[in-house]
Amino acid sequence: MTEIENVVIIGSGCAGWTAAIYAARANLKPLVITGTLTGGLLTTTSIVENYPGFPEGVDGNKLMEDMKQQAERFGARARFNSVVENADLSVDASSGRREQPFRLTVDGEIVETRSAIVAVGAGHRRLGLESESKLEKKGVTYCATCDGPLPVFRNKPLVVVGGGDSACEEAIYLTRFASKVFLVHRRDQLRASRIMAERLLAHPKVQPVWNSVVEDILDVAKDEVTGVKLKNVKTRKKTEIACAGVFVAIGHAPNTLIFKGQIEMDETGYLQVKHPTTQTNVPGVFACGDCVDRIYRQAITAAGMGCAAAIDAERYLAAQKA
Ligand code: NAP
Repeated sequence: MTEIENVVIIGSGCAGWTAAIYAARANLKPLVITGTLTGGLLTTTSIVENYPGFPEGVDGNKLMEDMKQQAERFGARARFNSVVENADLSVDASSGRREQPFRLTVDGEIVETRSAIVAVGAGHRRLGLESESKLEKKGVTYCATCDGPLPVFRNKPLVVVGGGDSACEEAIYLTRFASKVFLVHRRDQLRASRIMAERLLAHPKVQPVWNSVVEDILDVAKDEVTGVKLKNVKTRKKTEIACAGVFVAIGHAPNTLIFKGQIEMDETGYLQVKHPTTQTNVPGVFACGDCVDRIYRQAITAAGMGCAAAIDAERYLAAQKA
């Protein structure tokens, strides 16, 4: 029989590794189940220029690798490329108390743990085009805050896809760098909040392109973004816009499906915690980072929540012993 873990951290983005650093320094010997994308979404971006402490910016992969090493230095262990396939977080309904350790199925094996920190993150929704994946990091990006200030986008026309608050926020942010920002939206009304929509539409550098979908991103042959092919969904007319970058902002999907029916979540899958703590509805299960946060979604806010989750788990375990 393998030993029961004190705390298993599910996910290895900024939230997960930060939780691991804190839990390891608290001598809890955390086990990190990294998921298939070790390092999380930050490893899909290039230079991170807004993480405090790096005046010259830091490569997203390097930042995550350093966090991992920092956690390992204090005794965190990791199962790389491993995923939690199933989670049994059952609690006795009458007493509200957990009668047994949580049981996680990890790559077919059962891992038992007294507490768990869920830091599974969220994935960017994608357009689903072949050219989109081929040109990712070569002009196609999912984060204006991360990539907008890069020299390749300076004083060039840029395209933002989407009509929600994220798309508007990204488009407005990009006006600082771009010569012009085209907002391509599939309808002729923004989903974004009124204040955000008004701010966007009043901006002299923003040109909305209504009722339009991106059919293709150019130019895979050149290995860089040179433009987009659009189709007007009402008139069926096809057009092209020349641009140096495509910022896809069509929403996020938290990676929380395996917890459905156990951890309380909102209708879009974001886990609910008892703010300002990271406690979920299941005692002993804490959640942090982009699977909880639908508002800020920054590396530094995820790291902050990871820290909080580790402290919450440590206090929970101490209270169980007392
Ligand atoms: P969202 O509100 O779900 O909007 C997604 C947008 O992408 C919608 O306009 C949608 O079009 C479009 N879309 C979805 N799938 C598409 C596809 N396959 N092709 C083309 N367009 C597609 O997502 P979000 O903007 O990321 O916002 C998520 C939540 O975070 C919201 O509650 C938002 O208010 C909040 N948020 C708040 C702030 C802020 O307050 N500062 C900033 C960012 C986000 P339709 O409109 O036609 O469905």
